[in-house]
Formats: sequence, structure tokens, C-alpha cells
Amino acid sequence: MRLLSLALVTLLSLTSLPGAAAGLRFSLVKTAETETLDAFTVEGGKWTEKVTLNHVAVLIEHHAATLLFDTGLGRQIDSQFAEMPLWDKPLLQYGPVVPARDQLDKDGIRIDRILLSHAHWDHASGLADFPEVPVWAPYEEIEFSQISTPPAVLPSQFKHPVKWLPFTFQSAAFMGFPASLDMFGDGSVVLVPLTGHTPGSVGLFLTLEDGRRFFFTGDTSWRLEGFTGPHEKFWISRNMVDNDRKATRKVLEQVHQLMAKEPNLTVVPAHDAKVQQKLGFYPHWIE
Ligand SMILES: [Zn+2]
Repeated sequence: MRLLSLALVTLLSLTSLPGAAAGLRFSLVKTAETETLDAFTVEGGKWTEKVTLNHVAVLIEHHAATLLFDTGLGRQIDSQFAEMPLWDKPLLQYGPVVPARDQLDKDGIRIDRILLSHAHWDHASGLADFPEVPVWAPYEEIEFSQISTPPAVLPSQFKHPVKWLPFTFQSAAFMGFPASLDMFGDGSVVLVPLTGHTPGSVGLFLTLEDGRRFFFTGDTSWRLEGFTGPHEKFWISRNMVDNDRKATRKVLEQVHQLMAKEPNLTVVPAHDAKVQQKLGFYPHWIE
């Protein structure tokens, strides 16, 4: 417990860097894609239409630090996936993988911190490729990663000594969320709790210098249609992955209302290939 308090103090001191200006850019590092039926991903989806889901890591360059939000599928995904129950495998299959670490190493990009939207297998797979990098997550999610089981969480992804840096949100309202964490104290990188899909699910707002704002919503919905509806996931998918249905529905409704209020906000669900395609992929930057 004392160790955790110490980590929290270190963390809070990092959040108030002096004179931090925005100067932010980001890039979607696509690690893999998977094709599935529209109907599997969102309630009311078509059984006759296919959709592509991406597995991405978000590379964020702030002048104070380079961050990775989620890790996508990593170098060890095939051996990790062996832990998946047989009956879940067909639904969760993925195509060829280009790990984030390989893409970033090639260009000499060093990551200072990893943030997790949540600890599910397709977001945490690449953690093992960055064993030296501290991983920020709420206490609830670190605990969830330690007690949850396949298909949601694959224990093999956490068997290396993960450098967890637990954090708690502060009671500072941001974009309609009652709590938040302003990572650099300049409003450019702000985390908000999205409890529901998992106990410590986290959303990320990125605001560029010119005011353009992006909201990374993790797996609250796999598709933008989940928020515009709002629509839940297909019931089988939902039962398989959503930890708390009622809380997930509440977040869907909250983001739905936020989108109506902020029409210029770009909402980016973690797997929505259609939304992500418009932003482009690494080495293309949004700046
Ligand atoms: Zn998930």
C-alpha cells in the first residue's frame, strides 16, 4: 500500500509540469485488423454485411513525454492467444500482425509511458514488448487484470513484471465527466473514467493547439454507431466482454449526449476501422 502511495505521489508531481504548452500530435499505429459481421459488433447490425475492426495503439507526442495509449496486438500474440478458450477463438480471430514495437523501433521512437484504455487481451497484448515502460492505469483496472480470466483477460500478457503506475482521478469536471486527470496540466491530454466495459476503463481526450479535440472511448462501443444510436453491443458479444451492462449503457448515453452538444468532437472507438481510416495510420500524424 505504501508503495502504491509513493507511486501516486510521483505520478501527481509529473502531472504539473511548469509552463506546459500544447504542441501535441498523435498517430494511430495499426497492428492488425479483423473482419466480422456487422451484427456481431452492434445491436441492430446487419447479418448480411461485413465490417473491419482494427487493433491500434495511439502514439502521442507531447513535448514533455511520448505516450502510447493501448498497445494493440504484440509480438507474442500467437502464444498468448493459445490461452483463449476454443469456442471463443473463431469470433476473436485476427489477421497478420505488425506489432507497435516493431513499427516504432524502426524509426527510433522511444515510449516514456503507456496508458491503457483497459486490460483486455487485444489492448494489452503489446505490453510485454515494452517491459521497461511504466504502465498507467486506475487501481481498479490493475486489480481486474490480476483476477479476470480468458477470454477477456489473458494472464500470459501480465506474467512479466509490469511496471504499474496506479492513478486515481481528481474531482475536476471535464467535458461533462465529473472526474478527470489532466496529465500535463495544460489540458492537452486528459483522462476520464469510463467504468462499465471493465471496472477501470479509461477514456482519453486529446486537444491539439488549434482546438481540434479527439475522444478515444476504448471499448465502451466497438463502433461509432453505438454512440450515435445509442446502441449496445450484440447480446452475445456484450455478455462475453462487458463487465457491467448497466454502467456501460450509462457511458454510451453520456457520450451520445456529449456528441450532440459538441458536434466538432471526433469520437474514436478503439476498433472502428471506418472512423480510424479517415484519420490515417502511422507514419501519418494528426497535428
Ligand atoms: Zn475490451
